[in-house]
Parts: sequence; C-alpha cells; structure tokens
Amino acid sequence: MARYTGFNCRICRRETMKLYLKGDRCYSDKCAVERRNYPPGQHGQSRGKFSNYGLQLREKQKIRRMYGLIEKQFKNYFKIADRQKGVTGTNFLVLLERRLDNTVYRMGFSSSRDQARQLVRHNHLLVNGRQVNIPSYLLRPGDTVSVVESSRQLVVINDALEAMPRRGLPPWLELDKAAYQGVFKVFPTREEMNLPVQEHLVVEFYSK
Ligand code: SF4
Repeated sequence: MARYTGFNCRICRRETMKLYLKGDRCYSDKCAVERRNYPPGQHGQSRGKFSNYGLQLREKQKIRRMYGLIEKQFKNYFKIADRQKGVTGTNFLVLLERRLDNTVYRMGFSSSRDQARQLVRHNHLLVNGRQVNIPSYLLRPGDTVSVVESSRQLVVINDALEAMPRRGLPPWLELDKAAYQGVFKVFPTREEMNLPVQEHLVVEFYSK
C-alpha cells in the first residue's frame, strides 16, 4: 500500500482525535478536530458502534498513521516486537519511538514527523557524528542526534525548536538547543511514552 498523500486533518477526524500531523496548525484553533470532532464523509455523524474487530482495526490505523508508516513497515515492527522478550505491545511502541525520524520530531528539530522524515532524507541530520539519511534507522541508548552545521540556519529547524517547549521533551531524550544536538538516553518505559493508545488492541489484531 502506498503512503497516504491526502489531507492529514482528514486522518485525525477519521480517528476522532488529534494526531498532531501538521505542526503549528495542530495547536491553533484551526485544527479540524477542534472544529468538527466526528469522522469525515456523508455518514460521519451517524456511524454506529464498532465490533471488536472494528475497534482493533481503528486502533491499529490510528497508531500507524500517527507515526506515518505504511502497513508493511508497521506489521514488520510488530513481528520484531513479538519475537522480543517482555510485553509485545510495549516493545512495539518502543520500536516506533526509536526511529530516527520520530526522535528528530520528539527532540524538536521538526514540527511534524513528516517534516522530520524529509529532513533526514535530505541529509540534514547526523547520528553519532555520521550522516544518516534513513528515517527508519533505530537509535540505541547513548546515540547522539545532531543537525549538520550548514543546516543550522534553516528556518524550519529554528522555528520548530522555538515552538518546542509547547510539546515538551520526553524523559528518555536530552536536548542541547544551542548545540543543535540531542541524546537518546534510554529506551522509554510505557509510562514515560504517555501515548493515548491501546496497543493491546493492535497485538490482538495481528495475533489472529
Ligand atoms: Fe490533526 Fe493537526 Fe489537522 Fe488538528 S490540525 S486535525 S491535530 S493534523
């Protein structure tokens, strides 16, 4: 399945919650979920209850879209998480959080995960001092992520860093704004991730 290229706000409305896909706009009163918090389409306001399968599917789609992944990539993370020790749902979320594009967004170098992916692809980021242009690169504890020196004057990066306090820095990351550098300190715990999702529904969805 190809990457979704339609309107991001439509995705949030479909899941009836803010997925923060559009940067600054998500924090303004222009947010589509704030204005019309019901699914889009002719029958958006008259949808009935979901079946168990429907609930699992919606939760899976919500998390997948939040991280901007295609189905194949998303399912592969589940397979990896399922083979790891510990709670599969938590392992799964940790894998998603370890992605380089997600970390660039969490550190505040971009205002959305889409933008972070583009910055990574266009060689604006370094991991441990070496250029990495693979958005799915998985970070390990102690890895440093920094902005290439010649990219530090980019307006998108500086604007995102300025707006960063509004989002807050997750506890498993460290950020030195002045040095345009951050550290992925440890793998996050489920509590630290503080995500409004029910990952056990995704585990149930893929475990059939
Ligand atoms: Fe979602 Fe952001 Fe659009 Fe609001 S503005 S609906 S949070 S993408």
